[in-house]
Amino acid sequence: MVDWRLFEPLFNYARKKSLWIVSFCTGCGGIEMPPLMTSRYDLERFGMIPDPSPRQYDLFLITGYVTPKTLKRIIITYEMAPDPKYVLAHGSCPLNGGIYWDAYNAIKHLDKYIPVDVVIAGCMPRPEAVMDGIQKIMEMIENGTADGWKRYKENYEWYKKNQDELFGEGWREREARRWIPWLVDKKKEE
Ligand code: SF4
Repeated sequence: MVDWRLFEPLFNYARKKSLWIVSFCTGCGGIEMPPLMTSRYDLERFGMIPDPSPRQYDLFLITGYVTPKTLKRIIITYEMAPDPKYVLAHGSCPLNGGIYWDAYNAIKHLDKYIPVDVVIAGCMPRPEAVMDGIQKIMEMIENGTADGWKRYKENYEWYKKNQDELFGEGWREREARRWIPWLVDKKKEE
């Protein structure tokens, strides 16, 4: 019987070198992504590519402020991806609300709802700062300290409680009913 944990350093090295980024730009910081991905800063040289599917990405970039409406999509997108997955938040908004700290519809602490591995300071963070954050998360992936996906499982009740307090219990079902009624009806028939 092979003990796959022995290969974990090798897997982590491979993960670090082949990060797929979900293309879900949540706030103003998303405008920094085109120069990052194209010839000026060329993130692809680090083995990173944008990925249109939430079911296959490794790195979730939260590129700015988050509203409750967006947060629902963020949580669902986060939960859809297979483990291990990593979260990198741009700017002060996801961390403490930033300039929207007193807005009724800005989420002040994203890390109460999903785990955040690295936060990039700045409003908005320059591409160099984003590159710095990406280097940081790559180091953490390699040494196994980017462990938000494990914390989400271990503390799921706590995250779920915070999510339910904000949206009310059963919000996932309500969302599913809203977006894919045919699927819910089909499930009832089975
Ligand atoms: S930190 Fe600044 S740039 Fe980023 S989302 Fe907030 S206001 Fe926009």
